[in-house]
Amino acid sequence: MESLRVSGVTVSFGGNRALDSVAMTAEPGRITGLIGPNGAGKSTLFDVASGLRRPSSGRVFLDGRDITRLRPSERARRGLARTFQRLELFGRLSVRDNLRVAAELGPERRRADRAVTEILARLGLTDIADTAPDALPTGVGRLVEVGRALAIRPQVLLLDEPAAGQDGEETERFAALLRSLTADGTAVVLVEHDMSLVMGVCDEVYVLDLGKVIAVGPPEVIRADETVLAAYLGD
Ligand code: ADP
Ligand code: MG
Repeated sequence: MESLRVSGVTVSFGGNRALDSVAMTAEPGRITGLIGPNGAGKSTLFDVASGLRRPSSGRVFLDGRDITRLRPSERARRGLARTFQRLELFGRLSVRDNLRVAAELGPERRRADRAVTEILARLGLTDIADTAPDALPTGVGRLVEVGRALAIRPQVLLLDEPAAGQDGEETERFAALLRSLTADGTAVVLVEHDMSLVMGVCDEVYVLDLGKVIAVGPPEVIRADETVLAAYLGD
């Protein structure tokens, strides 16, 4: 069964449809890519899934339960985590405290300290655990943001351009991390512009353009899809 499902999601800003009847599913243990040109609606879809924006129509399901009306904190408590394209960390708290705040929102808050220590190690952040994100380069900040999302022990993890600003070697390490996340059954949705990362790690890819899903399929099919190429080339 799917972990996350959105169906018929429509969002308008003034007269503009940022999302037009969008359907998407993310399955346990799989990485679902969400790509499309700037302004396609990717971040808005994450806002709807995570409860920051109420759609004018459509529904959101987590593990088969309708969560459309739940608040963001309640969705987090049920295991839905996200990162933000623009980092949303507490800039002056330590990295460890940023993760700890999130861990206390999640379903296993009594084990928060241990969970945080494990996640810091897994992301290679132990050495900077006492540093504040404001003092770190953006690429590292993005990893802290991923750590913050992991700290709620998510069953669904929405990542909004997590590898932006990383160099080639960092991206390779990040790809390995993503694969390791799915090993315990987490459903990952990845918004990312780095096509070799997307095509290398995703099991399935959705393509959004102007608020509509214009293609869905495995990476090798999406890569050869002419509609997708046209959307990117802008004709
Ligand atoms: P993406 O993440 O794919 O680049 P977004 O979801 O950020 O796209 O934006 C989709 C569309 O919605 C764009 O046209 C954008 O300008 C518009 N939009 C996003 N957020 C707002 C907002 N808060 N107010 C008005 N328009 C918005
Ligand atoms: Mg975006």
